[in-house]
Amino acid sequence: MFCLLKFGNSERGGHTLLDRQMAQRTVGEGPGANSLSFGPCDDQAIAVGLPGPAQRSWCRAIVGGLSVAAMAKFIHLWHTVRDIQLSDASDSLRWRWTSDGAFSVHSAYDALHLPSQAMPWATLLWDTWAPLKTKLFLWLAFRRRHWTVDRRRRHGLDAHANCLLCDQEPETIDHIVVTCSYAKQIWWNIRAALNETSALRHCDNVLKWWEVWRCLWVGEYKQGADSIFALVAWEIWKERNARLFRGAVTQPMQLMEASIRHQAELWVQAGAKGLGSLLQRVQ
Ligand SMILES: [Zn+2]
Repeated sequence: MFCLLKFGNSERGGHTLLDRQMAQRTVGEGPGANSLSFGPCDDQAIAVGLPGPAQRSWCRAIVGGLSVAAMAKFIHLWHTVRDIQLSDASDSLRWRWTSDGAFSVHSAYDALHLPSQAMPWATLLWDTWAPLKTKLFLWLAFRRRHWTVDRRRRHGLDAHANCLLCDQEPETIDHIVVTCSYAKQIWWNIRAALNETSALRHCDNVLKWWEVWRCLWVGEYKQGADSIFALVAWEIWKERNARLFRGAVTQPMQLMEASIRHQAELWVQAGAKGLGSLLQRVQ
């Protein structure tokens, strides 16, 4: 009801029909073939526009041709307003987010966060020892919010053809970190260096890969495994960016020795105890 009509007292002391812009915004997504367009009706009272099959003058205010989509909206609107009976009672405001219609700050807060989505891995990620920028990188990777080729194309932006690391497959964040041959080589070498040789389940996305990776370790090593996961994923991503923005290429073994090993030692010095325990396994 509030979609089409505004309840309130006009200067003339009656209810007024909402202006056509508001009607278009609500009945359709904006001006166009799929919207219902209304002619001028600012001075028309709701009491005149709504009741009685003989009246319903709001229908006559519709202007322009009706597409199939607009006709469907018209029928929906017709069913919505056909049984409405106005009374002489005063208008009142009703807060839709509480059962009694009364406003409360708590309900407003809940309403604001309705679109929020619980992330079961969030606590684990924030508890992982890693610099904040690395955690933010992983957070965006889990949500697939990095501007990789797939996302750029979805938004109609220019993008390079294939993955910059292997030049064989389309680029997604899951490919870069998990399924790319470049990344696989690094993960395999890291496992070998840590004396970890278990068979691995196949996985094709970053979050699943983290689950698989941390299941390889028990006890005190699990914490360090989380840190090294964050570090390796972060360094692979940086290598991708180095190729994209600077044209600099580092081979997997070089990346392991020059970047990953060095950064891991710095992280340990900065307080990553779990990572320190894990690194003692390195041959
Ligand atoms: Zn690749």
